[in-house]
Amino acid sequence: MPSNDKITDIINRAYETYKDLDRGKLADYIPELGKADIKNFGISVTTVKGETISVGNADTMFSIQSISKPFVFGMALEGHGTAHVRSRVGVEPTGEPFHSIIRLQAKSKRPSNPLVNAGAIAMTDLVNGNSHEERIQNLQSALAKYTGRPLDMDESVYLSEKATGHRNRATAHLMLHFGMVEPRIDETTDLYFRQCSYKITSDDLSVMAATLANNGINPKSQDRALLSEHVKSLLTLMFTCGLYTYAGEWAFRVGIPAKSGVSGGILGVVPGVMGIGVYSPLVDKHGNSVRGIRVFKNLATELGLHMFSHSIRKSP
Ligand code: GLN
Repeated sequence: MPSNDKITDIINRAYETYKDLDRGKLADYIPELGKADIKNFGISVTTVKGETISVGNADTMFSIQSISKPFVFGMALEGHGTAHVRSRVGVEPTGEPFHSIIRLQAKSKRPSNPLVNAGAIAMTDLVNGNSHEERIQNLQSALAKYTGRPLDMDESVYLSEKATGHRNRATAHLMLHFGMVEPRIDETTDLYFRQCSYKITSDDLSVMAATLANNGINPKSQDRALLSEHVKSLLTLMFTCGLYTYAGEWAFRVGIPAKSGVSGGILGVVPGVMGIGVYSPLVDKHGNSVRGIRVFKNLATELGLHMFSHSIRKSP
């Protein structure tokens, strides 16, 4: 376990090294995301003891986007059990962009995994509740257990995606055709757009990640957010599919379960040790934060984070 001083030193240096890096673009296919301030840059680490160390714009709010996907996958596992969830979604990386519509598995017609849009929408469909309102409430409170604080939606991002999210609606319709989702797809896509628009900070991301690192218990509130039996399922999918079409490269070079979102957040989990959250809105061609990737590579090298290097877990 690295000391807090060491973590502080490393993230401060990473912040200084990359704060002026201005490669990448804003993800403006959701028009509202194109208005982000490209200077924003926050790096946060929360240890499994519940201490948060951060630098930069660590309390700047941005929409969670795809980083919500593993957590809603977790809700589906808890609400329906692994066997039912597996009948609705696969666990294979796609090698396709996250919003690809073409790859429903040939035989089963399931979407490939819960971290591409098709699979994520199939998981949102499984959010329980007797009404749309109740499903919204259930989703919001499930996410809030990970952050340890109530969440608000970014209304303009939500409306912006709802107005332009035709591809996601088409994906949902295709899955309805194959019987992978219930017919209530207007509600489910609305819920998916809401889920993507909750406002979080890099500090929040680190607490959410630390909750997974702490086997499902939020290390600040001590509330359980996820049954421990499902933690490994989330982490496995994050390890193999969390960074879109960069997932293999990420596993090779950084080597920890992680999830990125097109608004520029990346969350990474070092099981038993810490959660890491980075926010910087300029993204590369895969849809991953440019500065975020650099920071994680740095931390992975300096702290020996790679899952298969073991140096971090061996030290007392
Ligand atoms: N809401 C976004 C979408 O569906 C999320 C995508 C992402 O972060 N990769 O396009």
